[in-house]
This record gives sequence, C-alpha cells and structure tokens, in this order.
Amino acid sequence: MTARTETTRFAPSPSGHLHLGHAFSGLFSELAARQSGGRFLLRIEDIDTTRCRPLFTQEMIEDLTWLGLRWDAPPLAQSTRNEAYRQALDRLSGMGLLYPCFCTRADIKAEIESAAAAPHGPDGPLYPGLCRRLSPGEREDREAANIPYALRLDVQKARNLAGPLSWQDRGKGEMIAQPEIFGDVVLARKDIGTSYHLAVTLDDAFQKITLVTRGEDLFQATHVHRLLQALLELPVPQWHHHGLIEDEQGQRLAKRHGALALRQLRLQGKSAQEVRAMAGWED
Ligand code: GLU
Repeated sequence: MTARTETTRFAPSPSGHLHLGHAFSGLFSELAARQSGGRFLLRIEDIDTTRCRPLFTQEMIEDLTWLGLRWDAPPLAQSTRNEAYRQALDRLSGMGLLYPCFCTRADIKAEIESAAAAPHGPDGPLYPGLCRRLSPGEREDREAANIPYALRLDVQKARNLAGPLSWQDRGKGEMIAQPEIFGDVVLARKDIGTSYHLAVTLDDAFQKITLVTRGEDLFQATHVHRLLQALLELPVPQWHHHGLIEDEQGQRLAKRHGALALRQLRLQGKSAQEVRAMAGWED
C-alpha cells in the first residue's frame, strides 16, 4: 500500500485573538501535511461579519507566521466565496431539500417549552419543525410580508435521498454518519446568507483537502458535512479530530481567555519555541 499524500488546512475564525489551542491545532495540521509530503493550507473563516474583523485576520496571520507555520498557497478567505455558497444553496433548493424558516429565537423557544418532549442534539434542543410544516400559502404570505428568513435543510428528506453514509476518522475509525442528530440545520443564516456547515464543506472541496484536521469539539459537525458532500457530489476527505488543550482549571481554552493569547505571550517576551512547548508541542 502506498502512503497517502495529504492536503490539510487550518481554518481559524478571525473573531478574536488566537490562543494556545489554535497554536496546537495549526501545528497539528501542518505536521500531518509535512509528514505525508503533502500541502498545508490556511483558510480564514470570516463569514460571520457580525463577529469577524479584518484587524483580527491581519493579526492572526502575523501570530501564525511568528509561531513558525508556513502555508503553501495564499490564504483563502471565506468572505470571497459567497457566490459558491449561493450556487450550492440554489442546487439544494432545486432538489427540494431546503425550506425558509421565518422563526425568531423566541418563537423556537416558546414552541419547545410548550411541547411535551424536546429532543436535544449536540447544539441543544432540535428545531421543532414549525416552518417545515407551513403550507405553500403561509410561506408566500410571509415572504410577501418581507419577514427575514433562514434556509434549513430538511434532514430526513436529505438522508433518504443520500442513503447510508460513513466516514473514515483517523482517531475513531469508520463512523456511521448520523446527520439527523442536529435536526434541520440552518444552511443559510438570516444575517449572513450562509453557515459554518455549508461554507466548510464547500471550501474543503474547493481547496482539495484530503485530510480535515480539527479539534474534537467539532467532531459531531462531521455528520452534517458528510451528508452535504453526498448531496452536492463533493469528494470525501478523511478526518482527524484531535484532543483539546485545557487551562489549569480544566476549562477548554476560548478566545475570551486573553491571557493565553499568542499575541499576549509574545508581548510578554516568550519565544515561539516556548509557546509551541506551552501548546504541548515538542520541536
Ligand atoms: N472556523 C472553525 C473554528 O475556528 C474551524 C472550522 C473547521 O476546522 O472545520 O472553530
């Protein structure tokens, strides 16, 4: 058997400063590419214009370069890919798999509270399906009234169309895809017209990623990504979800914990090698 040559990517969101967890994740991804004689790419996941800032992108690139990461092509910014996201939504819509969801958070909360049972998924209670059940006339009335809407995937319909799916995970082996655990996920948010799940899936294919490396906090998302790949006839990579770095209190690191930001550590005079070691990385 010949070993695979992998194209990997590190895909941070510029919604704050990078911390030690990002350092580990970026180094992990680059090493996987280098060890296989492949390519390492950087993607800027800046679709969420309510949270991402160009200044964070600039600082992120500076911090990663300082840390020692080297990507093999110019970074891809998701904000340049809106046309591709729109085309994919049109395609899924043409397949009858999407429906507009006019619900506000308050509508969803009220419906869940009044229901006898509220099934939960990895992100909390599942969408109770209010807008899936609207009649064509009710939909038209809402559209005519210019009520903003998101686009949701009818996951049961999509699953039935795609049939059984699985994926190869480097940590956990062969996984059976169960996208229904998230319910009818949003593929286009009201405010930004796309979503994490859609953009990541399309861009991994666009960048010809063969091995998706990311933290195990995103493990469950792969169920949805695998379904979208099947529906959109995209190539299927393998995945490697790595463990997460915790702080002294055993809490997962987050961008809001500024003290462990790479930038901060660098300003305190730490060397890149020291920071790599703090991220659990042996040079
Ligand atoms: N942009 C995501 C994050 O910063 C990572 C996406 C991914 O690796 O799939 O958490």
